[in-house]
Amino acid sequence: MVYTIQDIVSYLEKVAPPSYQESYDNAGLITGNLLDNVTGILCSLDATEAVVEEAISLGCNLIVAHHPIIFKGLKSLTGKNYVEKTVIKAIKNDIAIYAIHTNLDHVAHGVNKKIADKIGLVNTSVLVPKKALLSKLVTFVPEEDKEKVLSALFEAGAGEIGEYSGCSFTASGKGTFTPSDQANPHKGSKGNPHEEPEVRIEVLLPSLLERKVLSALKHAHPYEEVAYFLQRLENENQLVGAGMLGDLPYAMDEQEFLKALKINMELHVIKHTQLLGKPIKKVAVCGGAGIFLLPQAKRSGADIFITSDIKYHEFFDAENQIVVCDIGHYESEIFTKELLVEILSQKFTNIALYLTKVVTNPITYL
Ligand SMILES: [Zn+2]
Repeated sequence: MVYTIQDIVSYLEKVAPPSYQESYDNAGLITGNLLDNVTGILCSLDATEAVVEEAISLGCNLIVAHHPIIFKGLKSLTGKNYVEKTVIKAIKNDIAIYAIHTNLDHVAHGVNKKIADKIGLVNTSVLVPKKALLSKLVTFVPEEDKEKVLSALFEAGAGEIGEYSGCSFTASGKGTFTPSDQANPHKGSKGNPHEEPEVRIEVLLPSLLERKVLSALKHAHPYEEVAYFLQRLENENQLVGAGMLGDLPYAMDEQEFLKALKINMELHVIKHTQLLGKPIKKVAVCGGAGIFLLPQAKRSGADIFITSDIKYHEFFDAENQIVVCDIGHYESEIFTKELLVEILSQKFTNIALYLTKVVTNPITYL
């Protein structure tokens, strides 16, 4: 079985939809041709020039990386810095680079779940679920077409709430309309006011499926003109958002926990605020730069918050209410490359998958 880059991208976009990325992000295909056949995939945290060289030597023409090598946009491409050098090398050697960044941070089985698993957390949940990712569709169908339209909506991905599928609300009523002379009415006749027993259907759907669900509605609905309301909702999506919260299977002494953290996450150093003399049971984590989640980590009742890229003054914000740890950006996310291999191997069993051996961390410790 031969797969194209498009096959890999489509699968990854189901796992971590691009619309879940932050507005400043640049996740997606950065170089490469979607129609090329995949010769092998190299998974990495960063796509640097050395990683591109590694892909070439392994015979891989696709790099799946967490961090997008092009982040802010380029106005020229002359090789004047490491970003341009990497991109030029990738393009010259037909290497596709796909970045799966804050969208992978935000899914329940993404970057933060991997960290939680490494630390041994149980009962994990998203720390700050995202709002406004759900929509509501209301439509009106003749009574005899209710089942057909409902199943088309469910088939397209509407009506799923947590562990429940086929969720809808229906109520009977009367629809009215007057077809014009140019109309081709399914019910009633041209020029005459008509009243039709109809069912009002309401369903929830992920906003990213709006087009698909609307197309399914229009296809299944018998009317020439389909009446519907589509509305974005403020509801939280519990499975999508920033950071993760979990429990240790049993409470640990602070020192004991930090020593275990160092081993489990393969750390050289942990920068942390004052220990509070309390056992650690509830843990909040956020891979990469996550200190913006400190207020929510405190409110969640977490005993400790593990993240990276914390500035001096931000450590003060712990205010002896929580222990805050900076474990390093690279160190907090390095296992994302393992996660990528796990995700890809669930679907593609006969493609060569590699973990980069290049240490892309620009920071070393004396
Ligand atoms: Zn990062």
